[in-house]
Amino acid sequence: MEHALRSASGADTWMNCPGSIKAQQGIESQSSTYSEEGTRAHKMCESMLMGDITHNIEQDDEMVSYCKSYVDYVRSLVKDEASLYIEKRVEFSYYVEDGFGTVDAMIVDLEESTVHIIDFKYGAGIKVDAFENKQLMLYALGCYQTTNCMWSIDNIIIHIFQPRMDNISTYEITIDELLEFGEEVKKASMATIDANAPRITGLKQCQWCKAKIKCKEFLGITTNVIDNSGDDETLKYILDNEKLINMAIKTAKDYAFKSINEGNSFDGYKIVEARTNRKFTEEGLIELKEKLGDKAFINKPITLSQAEKLLSKEEVNGMTIRTSGKPTLAKESDKRKSLTDEFEDLT
Ligand code: SF4
Repeated sequence: MEHALRSASGADTWMNCPGSIKAQQGIESQSSTYSEEGTRAHKMCESMLMGDITHNIEQDDEMVSYCKSYVDYVRSLVKDEASLYIEKRVEFSYYVEDGFGTVDAMIVDLEESTVHIIDFKYGAGIKVDAFENKQLMLYALGCYQTTNCMWSIDNIIIHIFQPRMDNISTYEITIDELLEFGEEVKKASMATIDANAPRITGLKQCQWCKAKIKCKEFLGITTNVIDNSGDDETLKYILDNEKLINMAIKTAKDYAFKSINEGNSFDGYKIVEARTNRKFTEEGLIELKEKLGDKAFINKPITLSQAEKLLSKEEVNGMTIRTSGKPTLAKESDKRKSLTDEFEDLT
């Protein structure tokens, strides 16, 4: 598959860290079982939308049902006079040099002066939000550049359809807001061209960056405190960077695991079987029931979210109470009231 250097899917990385383009050069993407599965699911969606159900894609019932729900969703958005484009290649080279991408589904609805951009996400690990989603906003810019109907469009609605996480997220923007974003994109894209473009660490950009494992700035997050250890400022640095530090630790662990797994040595480490808990065998459960009768099982209520699916949120609200929690550290920006302020108010 053809890949753009400043791709739409990598926009969070290169728009937030200009140095990431150079840092990632020459590093191959790791094809994982998950991404292969995603590719298969996308192909299935495309065939289904085209009305072809005789395709020869390795499939399972679960995948078929998720893809079908996506197809139903897309079709529900296509009104009488609207045009549906499937796997449409769009170019946003006016904003990003050689920029292009493929939109899963795009609906141009001239009656409503609206374009819908729909992205199918087959992942089940991280919930993807449509709000200010750079990938889809770049696709929207691509539609603006590629199609010649945008003069009669007022709004763009971006949709993320992620069935395995029960997630449908939408975000609506006007053409003016989109073009404002286009100017931001142009600046960010230009910044990546500079040979000395800085590397700027951050959760959004480092998360999917292929250069993580050899990036001094990213790995340095864990050691920047050493010269300064002991004071409040050092501890504040650790707390402020908690998520990035954890990400760096996970990156090191994944690297060491992969290296040993591929037959290399990694000084001081080995791979072992993870600890597991004992559990009853099927026969053991029968014997347990025979010996203990009803005492063998605990009758537990279903979870709150299971109850909310069966009843309404309001009904469940009326049945629940929130108990007070243990004092816990939170950032100043946290919406909850400070317990120490509350204490001062009382005194
Ligand atoms: S790991 Fe983070 S800081 Fe380093 S190049 Fe990638 S995005 Fe930039």
